[in-house]
Amino acid sequence: MLDKKKFYINGKWILPFRKNDFEVINPSTEEVFAIISLGGKEDVNIAVKAARDSFENWKNVKKEERIIFLEKLLKIYKKRFNEMAEVMSKEMGAPIDYATAVHASSGQSHLEDFILRLKNFKFEENFDSKSNNHIAHEPIGVCGLITPWNWPINQIALKVIPALATGCTMILKPSEISPLSAMLFAEMIDESGYPAGVFNLVNGDGAGAGTEISGHSDIDMISFTGSTRAGKLITKNAANTIKRVCLELGGKGGNIVFADSYPNAVRDGIRNVMSNSGQSCDAPTRMLVEKSIYKRAVKEAADEADKIQVDVASKKGDHIGPVVSKVQYDKIINLIKSGIAEGATLAAGGPELPNNLKKGYFIKPTIFSDVTNDMDIAKKEIFGPVLSIIPFETEEEAIKITNDTEYGLGNYLQTEDAEKAKRVAKKLRSGIVYINGNGADPGTPFGGYRQSGNGREGGVWGLEEYLEVKTITGWK
Ligand code: NAD
Repeated sequence: MLDKKKFYINGKWILPFRKNDFEVINPSTEEVFAIISLGGKEDVNIAVKAARDSFENWKNVKKEERIIFLEKLLKIYKKRFNEMAEVMSKEMGAPIDYATAVHASSGQSHLEDFILRLKNFKFEENFDSKSNNHIAHEPIGVCGLITPWNWPINQIALKVIPALATGCTMILKPSEISPLSAMLFAEMIDESGYPAGVFNLVNGDGAGAGTEISGHSDIDMISFTGSTRAGKLITKNAANTIKRVCLELGGKGGNIVFADSYPNAVRDGIRNVMSNSGQSCDAPTRMLVEKSIYKRAVKEAADEADKIQVDVASKKGDHIGPVVSKVQYDKIINLIKSGIAEGATLAAGGPELPNNLKKGYFIKPTIFSDVTNDMDIAKKEIFGPVLSIIPFETEEEAIKITNDTEYGLGNYLQTEDAEKAKRVAKKLRSGIVYINGNGADPGTPFGGYRQSGNGREGGVWGLEEYLEVKTITGWK
């Protein structure tokens, strides 16, 4: 059993103010493999004080020096890369090869990209050549960073690195479900030699440490990634202190498959939903298929889902792992049952455990066809390996159904008609539109419209979230 009860505050690993143990469970085996502490008011207070005190110096450290710190962190990250992959695989169930190739590498690629953006970023500039006005971009101050379990190091990297890069200080509260990757990252930051208090880590849950952070009067900004439910609570709790609240929330992406799509479009769409066991905020969980190819698409989708292996995360190879917890498992199974009760056709999968597994939070890749957009399975973020297929007849109808959701994070479309693709992409109300399976380049902004949030992470946009902008007149 790993003893991970300490927090990283003011450059030291210290025990919490009060004992409040919490078990970290391996979702492949249902076994407890580590104990952490859940922090409270006093822990958050000392972490905030450390961050506030260190801000006075850290904000004045030159950009060149901050680049050197980040380059050191990158070197250490590469050295401990496999440890990062292993710990995530264990705490949230990503199969080890996937945890290595996709999860752990996301941390490295964000580090590399933010170093590049920081090198090119101008913190000060003239307003224009005829004006004596000067524009300064200054770090916002002490940041509370709250992250989820589904892409642990990806979400942490998207917050901690730009905060460090811009001269902010911070308290990170990772998800209590997947805290060990965050603690490993804290060790790397420590090893990089950052001044005490610049980065602090307090473990805890939403009702405890999370709420203390969002309401704290000496925190200048919250950056939160997680559910829309928690995003609303955080926004309300932060309101009294008028701090900046950047939100990256849930999604219910549409994937429009036109009849003139490339041959593997349906199969690729299925792989895209099922990867990470369906636990991605921008997963294309509603597949809209043009009526003329609907029957064929449903068969292809079901065949592909049946081919996907489900197995323990420690096993190498191409399969999906469990979902993260018993709570998530129960929620997903209930939504699968509700889809059946609502009258959707179960084309693949279902609520039973996969045949090869006797325990663990495993769910079969599940496909529903004949779904209408008013069913719960089309409206709610299921966050598991479950896809709803919805037929459409015209381009306008496909756009209307895709936009008919409270979310607006990632949408997808498949067609070989480039003009149609561009026309439809512009009409979709979401922070990103993926055409024909093309991925987003490092440094492009990521974030949502509507109830998917209000922030943009990554690249220059990710740096700007942590900056105040000041106008100074009479600058000679
Ligand atoms: P969650 O909202 O339950 O928890 C996320 C984090 O917030 C955890 O650290 C949790 O302890 C904390 N938290 C919960 N309630 C809180 C409160 N009242 N005050 C302060 N902190 C609180 O979400 P989750 O289940 O960990 O993650 C899954 C969700 O995250 C999904 O909805 C997914 O779509 C979303 N997500 C969004 C993005 C994005 O970039 N938009 C990326 C990844 C995940």
